[in-house]
Amino acid sequence: MAKKPEKLWQTPAHEALRWVRGTDLDALDESATPGWAGKRRDGEELMAARAPELADLQERLFAHGRTGGDRSVLLVLQGLDTAGKGGIVRHVVGMVDPQGVQHTGFGVPTEEEQEHGYLWRIRNALPRPGYLGVFDRSHHEQVLVVRVNRLEPQKTWRKHYRELNEFEAEVAASGTLIVKVALFVSAQEQKERLAERLERPDKHWKYDPGDIDVRSKLPQYIEAYQEMLDRTSTDVAPWYVVPANRKWYARLAVTELLTGALRSLELGWPPADFDVETEKARLAAS
Ligand code: AMP
Ligand code: MG
Repeated sequence: MAKKPEKLWQTPAHEALRWVRGTDLDALDESATPGWAGKRRDGEELMAARAPELADLQERLFAHGRTGGDRSVLLVLQGLDTAGKGGIVRHVVGMVDPQGVQHTGFGVPTEEEQEHGYLWRIRNALPRPGYLGVFDRSHHEQVLVVRVNRLEPQKTWRKHYRELNEFEAEVAASGTLIVKVALFVSAQEQKERLAERLERPDKHWKYDPGDIDVRSKLPQYIEAYQEMLDRTSTDVAPWYVVPANRKWYARLAVTELLTGALRSLELGWPPADFDVETEKARLAAS
């Protein structure tokens, strides 16, 4: 009999991918499949097999929120253009009931957003109890694009590391389980993905001429990511670094991280707040 695909995780994703402070990000192999000993086909098989469990776990969370529970989950996705954040949302988050998902993408702050502190729009988007929140980019842009493009003076953005940690500690204390995922593609893979966006009229909408400027600042972004990972990976909000040249691996890895996070909440089904036998009798008599 063939090995069960989940056995192909030699090291569980949450261990294999968890950021260890001081690791050299520059040395990351974006084509690697940390922890996973299988092939693409095995990975796709396992992802398909996880779908019902993931959906079940998310429904438990939703039911928990509907019955007065205070837990929620926040999946934070960071990564440069073409890293595959949108694909994670479609293929991983897409496996659960959209009713229970609160998805927010963060772009250049609007005029209204600029009138408030940078955490204002983040707080407004935090998942309510019972929800799976998904951030496509996040408050961490404040130490990434803001740093690289010098949108704030250094002495201002330097303060954000601590603020981000304090903010996340507060969010976690309110009942939100935070899972932060940083996706990395190699410069070559990014070039190919951008070329595809230019080649295909159905992908032009995803292309932004500014993406080339980001490419020219890749070393500065890596430096900014390195420090972000080192300084904002905490026990209550750890970073998981996912090599993303192989889309199937990145999606499988995030599926595992999300499934593991939801499992760790150990949510059962809420008990009925009515007498089941009485209701059965009433229904029968009706
Ligand atoms: P996309 O994810 O392709 O829709 O692009 C969103 C853009 O918004 C990216 O170029 C980000 O760098 C930019 N962005 C996100 N957050 C911020 C921020 N806080 N300040 C400035 N630019 C931001
Ligand atoms: Mg973009």
